[in-house]
Amino acid sequence: MNKINEYLGGRVLNTTSLNNEDLNELQTLGGKLCDATFRKDNKLFCRRCLMGIKKLPIDFQYCRHCINLGKIQVDDKLIITPTDISYPAQNQYLQWNGQLTANQRKGVRELLIAFQNKQDHLVWAVTGAGKMEMIFPLIEQVLIAGQRVAMCSPRVDVCIELFPRIQAVFPNTSVGLFHGKSAEKYHLTQIAIMTVHQLIRFEQGFDVLIIDEVDSYPLAGNEMLHKAIYKAKKTDGMIVYLSATPPKELLQDVRQEKITLSKLYQRFHGHPLPEPQCHLLFKKINFLGINPQLRYKINQMIHNKQRFMLFFPQIPIMKSFAKQLKKLYPTLTFVDVSSKDKQRLEKVQQFRDQKVQAILTTTILERGVTFKKITVIVLEAQAKEFTKTTLIQIAGRAGRGKDSYDDEVHFYYQYYTEQIRLACREIKYLNWQAKK
Ligand SMILES: [Zn+2]
Repeated sequence: MNKINEYLGGRVLNTTSLNNEDLNELQTLGGKLCDATFRKDNKLFCRRCLMGIKKLPIDFQYCRHCINLGKIQVDDKLIITPTDISYPAQNQYLQWNGQLTANQRKGVRELLIAFQNKQDHLVWAVTGAGKMEMIFPLIEQVLIAGQRVAMCSPRVDVCIELFPRIQAVFPNTSVGLFHGKSAEKYHLTQIAIMTVHQLIRFEQGFDVLIIDEVDSYPLAGNEMLHKAIYKAKKTDGMIVYLSATPPKELLQDVRQEKITLSKLYQRFHGHPLPEPQCHLLFKKINFLGINPQLRYKINQMIHNKQRFMLFFPQIPIMKSFAKQLKKLYPTLTFVDVSSKDKQRLEKVQQFRDQKVQAILTTTILERGVTFKKITVIVLEAQAKEFTKTTLIQIAGRAGRGKDSYDDEVHFYYQYYTEQIRLACREIKYLNWQAKK
């Protein structure tokens, strides 16, 4: 691979990180040199992350906000690398034989109109609606137009899962996967799959940006990442937001007609979302080892050979529950996963391959994963970690298969919270809308 490929595509690079030869070549190709900072309203801002630079009591001032991507000192020069690139034309870009439902086709039409109009667009699709398949025809059009697209999620796991799916349906297009932990070094590709964080490294790099899970951590409420999204998009480009639980700011933009909207209230199989069954626990979950109310449910699932997911608000609670589970049910096979778990992907795969009957997890698996024929159980549903959005996403793990659309969802709590109430109400509302 040509080394210059590792720089092209609207990258924001510190000139101190480049040798003279590369720098000259990038300038010849149309790269723009600029100062690392700019002034606005008498305040100093970083050109890469667009955040304000606070003066520190040291000699060399630098931007602390994007320091993880390499230090930028206020006197540094940056180069914004060229994006005017032609990609090889193909006879057929999209190679996918799947069928779209009538609802999905409507969504696709709306997306393509938004693309023609360079109009930012929100796809509000319930969990399991098949939003990814709806995106394929949009990407196809972007590629046909010789343009470049980035698919981003705040969550690394989602990017990793997405990458092989996109590669499989666009087999002749260059696709890259870039995130903080990826072994793959950045290089120019027509489709780039990356975490939203990586967008900080770009300026006007993409014609179309698709932002998945726009409501999830760490994107929700993060000013720097939201600025990065706008900055990474070309002036005449568009942003597509995907969400099952869109944040109120986006819905407000829809009301003010700043962005257009597609609604998919129905799952791809046409069945409603499973509505959670709520249970008040009279004692703590670890009462007598495992609370007898829970033991009753677990006995039932083991007896029926029912596979299940148990969600916990925090790692220590999960770990101590796992210990009790092992003690009381020595023959039950299960794994536990969390954000701290290096074997997370392998363990999730074990559960998917039905090598274990149960999986214990924190909110790390609230979204982006699909299993079939499972019962979903939330323990300590009153905990602050379980917001309305999280509970809706977790409930959305159930009922995703055509032949298991009525999987059960259970919330166990010691007291009822507003978040539980709102989550249950929204799921009912979405089902009611889907029937209309
Ligand atoms: Zn910065």
